[in-house]
Amino acid sequence: MADGTQSTVSRVARYIRLEPVYDLTVEGVHTYYVVPGRSDVLVHNCGEPSDDLLAYADAHIDQTNVASEVTAVNGVTGYGISVSRTLDELTPEVRTAVQITGHHGGCGEIGGLCDLESRGHSIRGAGATSVDVKGGSEGYGWERHGAPRAMCGYCVELFKFLNS
Ligand SMILES: [Zn+2]
Repeated sequence: MADGTQSTVSRVARYIRLEPVYDLTVEGVHTYYVVPGRSDVLVHNCGEPSDDLLAYADAHIDQTNVASEVTAVNGVTGYGISVSRTLDELTPEVRTAVQITGHHGGCGEIGGLCDLESRGHSIRGAGATSVDVKGGSEGYGWERHGAPRAMCGYCVELFKFLNS
């Protein structure tokens, strides 16, 4: 861990897509996300979801299954929920990244990237943290609300592209 303490990987799930991606659940530390732009570190524990992200999740109960906070390299944060989107609804650079990487465009991270780009912030080098949201089509209960969620394989590829 960053603070020098040891941690134990208690569960490893592997998804096969373009390459293996590991979803790690670490005992005592329940937040993790993929850090694009650091080729030496694919998966990294990065602290708890921010209060702003949790408040954003609260504000979207029953409207989605996932809320995402995307942080630009300048430190500005953008927010988005998981929802069906057409290419026309995406901001230009996000649309290009979606088209090149084959992303379906529906993830909360995509909404967060569009939020940043629409406000004039660069999305190059951005990182993201996501949490589950109560309700929505998956019908998550309170036990899942606000729980950290690993980036999906599509987003891993897209964020790697944005960091290339
Ligand atoms: Zn995704």
